[in-house]
Amino acid sequence: MEIIKVEISKLNVAMAHPVRVPLGVIDAARNVVVKITTENGTYGWGEASPFAPITGDSQDSNYITAQQLAKLVIGKNALAIEARMGEINGATVGDPSIRSAFDMALYDIAAKAAGMPLYQFLGGERRGIRTDLTIGMQDSVEKTVEKAQAILDAGFDAIKLKVGRPGLADVAHVKAVRELIGPDVALKMDSNQGWDYPTAVANINAMAALDVQYSEQPLAVWDYDNMARLRDKVDLPICADESLFDDKDALKILKLGAADYLNIKLGKAGGIHMGLKVNAIAEAGGCKCMIGCFGESRLGLSAAAHLAMARPNITFLDLDSAYHFKSDPVIGGVAYDQTIGGLLLLPDTIGHGAEIDEEYLDEDRIMVE
Ligand SMILES: [Mg+2]
Repeated sequence: MEIIKVEISKLNVAMAHPVRVPLGVIDAARNVVVKITTENGTYGWGEASPFAPITGDSQDSNYITAQQLAKLVIGKNALAIEARMGEINGATVGDPSIRSAFDMALYDIAAKAAGMPLYQFLGGERRGIRTDLTIGMQDSVEKTVEKAQAILDAGFDAIKLKVGRPGLADVAHVKAVRELIGPDVALKMDSNQGWDYPTAVANINAMAALDVQYSEQPLAVWDYDNMARLRDKVDLPICADESLFDDKDALKILKLGAADYLNIKLGKAGGIHMGLKVNAIAEAGGCKCMIGCFGESRLGLSAAAHLAMARPNITFLDLDSAYHFKSDPVIGGVAYDQTIGGLLLLPDTIGHGAEIDEEYLDEDRIMVE
């Protein structure tokens, strides 16, 4: 099934509430979408949501690289995903976000060609999947509690709290949220590299009674040795996020014993093809996975939700980026249930089911044929 056309466009969507993390503020989605069309008219959609402090790429770099990748895949078989992703990943070690967009468009085409929803194409079976909702770093404990109350009111069963403040300043936020939500709502924390080893030990010990589910990326991205040391030292599971991009990182982390959980993000892994490898390595090492997001619309989130549904080892879901979008540029695909907080409704449409409403696409749309 020959690829005859690739369309590339920027997609900008404002968010209702900016999210502050130790690495910066996310106040809008500045994404790139690709639509790959094949000779028989079957097409697939993919989305990149670059976040330079983590992925090292940007909307502009993705937009340029997409044009190079488009030339690479034109005239080739869309269904040969192993070959196509080998070429795409061989073309650059950078721009993982846009490599992911091509990947999810190819999987969309392949699942459509097979006449199956993507999770089924990946060998999965329907199961209930729920996402947490994230609270960014607030200026005061009162504001953190206010956010947690809103999440509780919306019926979520899991909250992810952004931490990583200096000293022990995070403890009061975690304590106040736990007191508010009671014992039955899961509470995870993500430091986004904000702590060093002694600060992480002190914080995790000070939070010992607060039933935190795990500590995500407590230390700097490169600090694998101290992650392993921390995991030995404290009685709390450690989850690697920024330290994990691909299968090589997964193997390294497991060999070092540096994490209990791995956070797969399609934008780090360069897509589903690599996400499957990371999950397989994790599973072989007795390690569960989380799946997270950057600022994807429901398009990128649909691809992630299909992968999560297809692989029960992907246990923790953090697919909340589109929850606070001011407008919704996506037709079809995964949706948030309106009564059961965090429940992800994944329709049985063939492919990943999501398309961009073309009215939202930037006028500087490029077509490579
Ligand atoms: Mg994270």
